[in-house]
This record gives sequence, C-alpha cells and structure tokens, in this order.
Amino acid sequence: MSLGLTALIKQFTPSPLQVIHDNYLDAQGIELWIKRDDLLHPIISGNKWRKLKYSVNHALSLNADTLISMGGAYSNHLHALAYLGKLLPINTIGLIRGEQPLNLTPSLYDMQNWGMQLRYINRSDYRHLRHYRQWHELPDLQAGQYWLVEGGAQAFALLGIAEIITEIDISYDWLCVACGTGTTLAGLRASASADISVLGIAALKNNSFLETDINQLIPENNKPYYINNDYAFGGFAKTSPELLNFMAEFEYKTAITLEPVYTGKLFYALYDLIKQGYFKRGQRIIALHTGGLQGNRGFKEGGASKKQVS
Ligand SMILES: *Cc1c(COP(=O)(O)O)cnc(C)c1O
Repeated sequence: MSLGLTALIKQFTPSPLQVIHDNYLDAQGIELWIKRDDLLHPIISGNKWRKLKYSVNHALSLNADTLISMGGAYSNHLHALAYLGKLLPINTIGLIRGEQPLNLTPSLYDMQNWGMQLRYINRSDYRHLRHYRQWHELPDLQAGQYWLVEGGAQAFALLGIAEIITEIDISYDWLCVACGTGTTLAGLRASASADISVLGIAALKNNSFLETDINQLIPENNKPYYINNDYAFGGFAKTSPELLNFMAEFEYKTAITLEPVYTGKLFYALYDLIKQGYFKRGQRIIALHTGGLQGNRGFKEGGASKKQVS
C-alpha cells in the first residue's frame, strides 16, 4: 500500500454488525442482522469504498496521477471517488451521463467542489464506455491516467468486498445485498463459504446482464447464489409510496436510514420474503447496508428520482 492510501485507510472504522430488534421478526423465528457499511466513513460510504480500495492501490502502484471513471448525476461511485481523490490527493475526472444540468445536483456539486473534473457525455457515447473493462482500455488514455469502470465493477473490487466477510465474526445462514452491477454480490459469493446462501435483490429492471457479469467476475465459482428480480419497483431509481412508507417505518423502528435506490428495496424485499416464508425458522440473515445515503438528496429535491443513475 502506498503511504497516502495507508493514511487514508486509518480514517475508516470497521463497520458494526447490528441485530434488528423487531417483534415481527421474533414471531417469524428469523434473526436479521445488518452489516453497517453505511458507517464506514462519514463521506466515502459503503460498498463503493470496498470496491475502490484495491483498484486505487493498483493505480498508485503504477504511479498513476489521475483516476477517471463514469456515472450518473447522483452517482454514489463518483461521489466516493471524488472525495477519495481530494484526500489522497490524486486528480479525478468524472464522465457524467447526459447533458450538464442547469443546476448541479447536490452530488455533482460535491464532486466539483472536491476537485473532480466533470465532463458530460451523451447517452449513446456513455453506453459505449461500458465496453472498456480494463484500467488501460479507455481510448485516448494519457500517461498517468487510470480508468475505472462504471460502479467500480472490476476484479480488484472483489478483494475489498472479501474484507466484509472476514469482519463478520458470528455464524449465519444468509448473506443478502442489493444489486446494481452485481460486483458486490460476486465478491460476497466468492469469499463466503459454500454453506452460506447468498441472495441479491436487483435494483434494476432490465438486468439480463446481471448473472453474465457476475459469472464473468467470478469464473471459477461453483457455489450457488440467487438473484431476485421482484423488487425493482419499476426500474432503477423508481420508487412507490409503498416503498417510501416502508423505509420511513423501518427508520422509525430501527433508527437506520435507507435510500430508495438500493437499500430500501433490499430491506423491503427481505421483510416481504420473510412474510412469504422464504427463509426457514431459526435462520440468521445478514444483510449488507451498502450505504449510498448521499443519494437521498436527489429524492428530497423532488422530481429527480427518475433521472437518477448509477
Ligand atoms: C452501487 C450500490 C449498490 C450496487 O452495488 P453493485 O456492486 O454495483 O451491485 C448497492 N447499494 C448501494 C448503496 C450502492 O451505492
């Protein structure tokens, strides 16, 4: 690890593992625990740090001076990257999906404020960027520049995700996580032992790519995992009053805040699946709170939800 990264890592606290006290869960005979990666760091939250850590280390080992990546106007990934760039420090460039908005979103405002150079990319060019999967594959990459794929979905991400598993010191039956690119799920599946069931709740509607991408990330894997597509609520960043009510109630009961894009859907799904008897009585579930709460500002503004992208 470089000195800069070693110093940065000291700012992170191990994320707590917390049990949910809830009469309903007790009655169902289910124990639900939450691995609170939303509490890893005040700004660089959740799985985005886990996924970036070893890629950034690799970039620094190559003496890179600039990290380039892509994301939407509310991107948790770019938000984390921009702040990491400020702390290290290292230059960052964000390729932003769509036209420059008249008013910067709160997320874009932060990124710019932390020194990230923002470049706006039209939607078809943006989609095309997804083809470049390796750090050196982005066309016209300059010396010293290091490319990170959308959402940090690269092999190095798996090493960071694996650290979640090593931090868990209780026994459990299920590991559950919300899926965007599926990278976090791939990392959990690769590092958890075979007797643990791994369940992903898809946050996107058209996600035929999900299992292909997961299998590409962990080609050696022969342990099963499950993807549930029933809780996308109409698509990425779409919500419903039912989902928002659930989140409000969950926060009231547990004092844990969720966001509607990923973690709201995950916990909604878990409560619903518990109701349907999907899990067996006596089982212990660990759900990963992947953070992303900065994205909530996009919803509080009103009207932004449909434009939100990963
Ligand atoms: C990006 C993100 C995810 C999805 O992670 P993948 O590894 O892309 O599946 C889940 N939750 C939150 C809060 C995120 O920001």
